Amino acid sequence: MDAYDYLFKFILIGDSAVGKSCILTSLIENKFKKGSSHTIGVEFGSKIINVSGKRVKLQIWDTAGQERYRSVTRSYYRGAAGALIVYDITNRDTYHHLINWLADARTLARADISIIAVGNKSDLKDKRAVTFLEASRCAQENEILFLETSALTGEGVEEVFVKVAKMILNKIE
Ligand code: GDP
Ligand code: MG
Repeated sequence: MDAYDYLFKFILIGDSAVGKSCILTSLIENKFKKGSSHTIGVEFGSKIINVSGKRVKLQIWDTAGQERYRSVTRSYYRGAAGALIVYDITNRDTYHHLINWLADARTLARADISIIAVGNKSDLKDKRAVTFLEASRCAQENEILFLETSALTGEGVEEVFVKVAKMILNKIE
């Protein structure tokens, strides 16, 4: 059963080690992969999700290492309908860089791309360095969506993808 109503390309961007690959694994396999492979090259996952009664197939691209050298190419952004800009709630630097990733997305992706800021590692409550409130204000100011996730527990992960897909559907339907 691979029937679907819509097909969207999604991309994952954000600093190294914020949990992009773990978010993808959590969505696709419903499990958490410990450690990371650090392979260079694009990794890829796909999943059909249900959004407002529509079957939406997501093709999700993972930077798989290029982000370390900020060498994410234009072809990576090409055709993307949705983008997740991921930061780590325990690391303020990764949060400050959100704005740079947003600028890249605005220049390299198509104009109508739907973007969400994702504060990952919400399970590490004692190490939190970025508040929910400041991040949600920042997202609001920049007119993008916002949610926190834990790739470790799975909290918020599917919601992120559903939220972006909903926004895209609202634009095209
Ligand atoms: P990427 O470089 O952005 O793809 O980051 P990875 O997915 O490789 O994750 C980097 C590190 O953060 C790994 O050691 C993961 O185990 C850890 N990690 C990722 N997501 C979470 C999370 O939600 N909670 C916790 N506690 N650790 C996480
Ligand atoms: Mg990765």
